[in-house]
Amino acid sequence: MLVVMRAQATEDQVRAVCKKVESLGYRAHPMPGAQRTAIGITGNKGEVEPGTLGEMPGVQEVIRVSKPYKLVSRDTKPDNTVITFPGSPVTVGGPDLAIIAGPCGVESRDQAFTIAERVARAGAQFFRGGAYKPRTSPYSFQGMGEDGLRILSEIRDRYGLLIVTEAVDNESLDLVDQYADVIQIGARNMQNFSLLKRAGRARKPVLLKRGISATLEEFLMAAEYVMSEGNYKVILCERGVRTFADHTRNTLDLSVVPAVQRLSHLPIVVDPSHGTGKRNKVTPLSRAAVAVGADGLIIEVHNDPDQALSDGVQSLYPDQFDSLMQQVRQIAAVLGRNVAEAGTSAAAAMSRMARASERLSSRA
Ligand code: PEP
Ligand code: MN
Repeated sequence: MLVVMRAQATEDQVRAVCKKVESLGYRAHPMPGAQRTAIGITGNKGEVEPGTLGEMPGVQEVIRVSKPYKLVSRDTKPDNTVITFPGSPVTVGGPDLAIIAGPCGVESRDQAFTIAERVARAGAQFFRGGAYKPRTSPYSFQGMGEDGLRILSEIRDRYGLLIVTEAVDNESLDLVDQYADVIQIGARNMQNFSLLKRAGRARKPVLLKRGISATLEEFLMAAEYVMSEGNYKVILCERGVRTFADHTRNTLDLSVVPAVQRLSHLPIVVDPSHGTGKRNKVTPLSRAAVAVGADGLIIEVHNDPDQALSDGVQSLYPDQFDSLMQQVRQIAAVLGRNVAEAGTSAAAAMSRMARASERLSSRA
């Protein structure tokens, strides 16, 4: 059920409706919009009796949401969700594209800093890098754990990049919530419902990757799990699905972008690195992702891909990332969207300052 408030409804009236919903034993999710606030009701087994709520001051109407996902749905919130970060001008879901770049995994302080400096300079606003790596083989590199998270948070301080990193279980989720700016839930965990609920109780935005064989509805229902616990800051991520095709690691399903945008108000970014698994396909598919209307890109970049401990074959060299950024900037402009100019972002300015202070200290 959804309670639609009148455009002129006061905050007190919204609060009173939420209180009433909770007193009936349900959960109320107020969703402020440009025109009006809607209040999603969850936790009801069957139909909520609309009578009492419909009569309350400030209420315009009480409607049934027929889709299985309620809070994720555009029926509940017609305007796009724009995710913001405290103390930062960066947004996800607005006119600026979110560019998230970095290695698959944090391997060392040197490796992470070298790559961060380059992606900041190229115009990225977010640094990615796993401290906990879900690997197909238990014998492969599993990530640096909390030491990796410490390195990531130093990168934020040094380069002004916001940090996106994966949580693989409840324990790592609490740590990622402390150290990072965005909690990544990986494709393999898209239907780990207890982890999704835990992410729903965390404070930071969640980047939710599509499962390797998830339908659109399953993908949106996973986001609903996070939102149903009260965390409305969800960024969806298309990262390719498994098909019969073997010329790529996965098949990047770009058609899911407009499909999501039709059904949901949540932002969606695209990961052409895992989506293709091949370095030479990352730039073309990044261009296509921006053209199709994605809200951002998440790209693996490595300074020495041949030696990378994970996903080297799909990682761009920093120079390739520079030229990818130049290309997507032009495509974004056609759609009236912006990609930060190289060297102009807060991250780039901090990267310049960091280089200058390194030069000074090496002279001293
Ligand atoms: C990753 O981003 O490094 C990763 C493991 O992604 P996915 O969950 O999409 O495979
Ligand atoms: Mn990877």
